[in-house]
Amino acid sequence: CEAVGLLADGGAVTGARILPRGGAEEHHDADLVVDATGRGNRGPTWLAELGYQPPVEDRVDPRTVYVSRDYRRIPGETDWSAFISSPSPAAPYGGVAISAEGDRWMVTLLGIGPDQAPPTDPEGYLAFAGRLPAPELHALLSRAEPLGPPKRMRLPTSVRRRYEHLTRLPEGFLAVADAMCSFNPAYGQGMTVAAVEAMVLRDCLRQGRRDLPRRFFAGAAKVVDVPWDMAVGADLRHPTIVGPRSRRTRFLNGYVTRLHAAAARHPVVGRRFLSVANLMTPPPGLFAPGIVARVLWSGRRGTPQVARPEPMTRVAEPAARVEELAAR
Ligand SMILES: Cc1cc2nc3c(=O)[nH]c(=O)nc-3n(C[C@H](O)[C@H](O)[C@H](O)COP(=O)(O)OP(=O)(O)OC[C@H]3O[C@@H](n4cnc5c(N)ncnc54)[C@H](O)[C@@H]3O)c2cc1C
Repeated sequence: CEAVGLLADGGAVTGARILPRGGAEEHHDADLVVDATGRGNRGPTWLAELGYQPPVEDRVDPRTVYVSRDYRRIPGETDWSAFISSPSPAAPYGGVAISAEGDRWMVTLLGIGPDQAPPTDPEGYLAFAGRLPAPELHALLSRAEPLGPPKRMRLPTSVRRRYEHLTRLPEGFLAVADAMCSFNPAYGQGMTVAAVEAMVLRDCLRQGRRDLPRRFFAGAAKVVDVPWDMAVGADLRHPTIVGPRSRRTRFLNGYVTRLHAAAARHPVVGRRFLSVANLMTPPPGLFAPGIVARVLWSGRRGTPQVARPEPMTRVAEPAARVEELAAR
């Protein structure tokens, strides 16, 4: 079925208009209609059809192109199962290889900003991997058998719909997850945020139906604030990305750049960053005294010289590798 619009009576949404495939439009009554139709949703249009102001949208285009290709994986050929070379403002391109079922490597090369898109022809694709600062991915692609052609995808624009700012909202209608805020997928936040919003909705419903949309959107906005600021802030580190750079964004990006440098010396800093980036620790955790001290101390000692490991071509049985690590 396709949802095609809302039913309303006075100041309340009372149901949805549904179009079954190949059938005629149906009307379904509902106490509560939840727009969970994802990124391309028409919730704002449906509200406008009922005479309501649609929410203001914050939009940031990450200007990122992915080109992905599968390769045959020979078990044991590397002693790593995933490889990531992240983009930075100085080098706005990167690459990822992840071991997948069916003895495959899922490889993605990406570029951020104009003229950075990875090529889709096989020779250009391999050459692009050769530009990455670490050699492992290029070495892998030089020897692995491709299982199909490179495929291109341009990341969609991140959109945050500010339902919480609307002064006039109908009762009986909510929008959740990507229909309310769709993030740059590179940061892997969307499903976690959707799950936390479901908990906000549960808690709101426990307090009754009165003023439900306003209470829900206010609670959900607090959930979205942190991951939105983190994702958009990280995109805005790149000078080619268009968007408002508040003093707070500039301060955070400057701090996070120094924090990344400190993480090269202090694993505890790196772990804390990943914990915050993966929404397991609230952002103030980046400013805990032990973390700030290491960030400042590393800054005073200049740019760290990160030890460059040898390219990892050695084959190691997992058990032997664990013993080797334990012995160190
Ligand atoms: C390339 C990519 C990679 C991602 N990687 C991650 C990740 O690693 N980790 C993470 O947490 N998140 C990731 N995300 C984000 C995550 O996929 C979304 O945040 C999540 O799927 C949102 O869930 P949703 O239910 O709001 O929307 P969706 O999952 O998009 O579901 C919406 C559904 O509604 C249907 N629909 C749309 N319109 C109508 C209509 N009019 N009538 C009826 N049905 C309709 C659609 O067909 C779809 O089935 C990624 C997203 C992308 C694009």
